Amino acid sequence: MLEILQIPALHDNYIYLVHEPNGWATAAIDPADSEPVLQALDQKGWKLTHILNTHHHNDHVGGNVELKRKTGCAIVAVARDKERIPGIDVEVHEGDIIGLGHAEAKVLDVPGHTSGHIAFWFEREKALFCGDTLFGLGCGRLFEGHAKEMWASLEKIRALPPETRVYCAHEYTQANGRFALQIEPENQALKERLNRVATLREQGLPTIPSTLQEELATNPFLRPHSPAIRHRLGFSNKAEDWQVFAEIRHRKDSFAG
Ligand code: ZN
Ligand code: FE
Repeated sequence: MLEILQIPALHDNYIYLVHEPNGWATAAIDPADSEPVLQALDQKGWKLTHILNTHHHNDHVGGNVELKRKTGCAIVAVARDKERIPGIDVEVHEGDIIGLGHAEAKVLDVPGHTSGHIAFWFEREKALFCGDTLFGLGCGRLFEGHAKEMWASLEKIRALPPETRVYCAHEYTQANGRFALQIEPENQALKERLNRVATLREQGLPTIPSTLQEELATNPFLRPHSPAIRHRLGFSNKAEDWQVFAEIRHRKDSFAG
């Protein structure tokens, strides 16, 4: 049994604490900042044993050094970006299994937002920590990767079980939804989700985690095969999914609304 605690940080980040009670293990995933993590650990009476970083951006590693200094935890991150991950101890690759007490997370390479971006997949618990690769109704910007590469990463995520809970690193769902609606205005599941999202945000509640099933039905970045989207964007059914994805990503980059 894993206990997952969601900690809001900075402006719109989420840090996750994943606690495995039997093995006395607790991991902080993408600690943007040390202070809120230390407070949560203190409140729960947990001892930090690991930090798992999805990528090198400061809003995902900002708490690394201070947390390691204060708790002695081990920092696990992608080998490829070892120069850019402060305090890295354990260098991981695609397919590696990270033991967290009795729980296990598998490393998935999901490049595109950054060249060394990884996700942590807890298969038994059906929980995915995907950093800035997939968001509620959106996906990360392509800072260090090509659209084809990002699409391959998203396809890897699409292939996970639909009941997978998607723990991404930012609360962007509502803003992403305004763009999604422009791309697929006839999508009834999207409209219904946007209503639920609006209600949650009015109450100051998170819209994350979502489920992969929800994202598959409503997130335009996972739906380049959709005939309605292809028609709207002027693609024939012969276009490849990654090309349609690239156009959606391109439009989002200049979307003002
Ligand atoms: Zn990022
Ligand atoms: Fe980020």
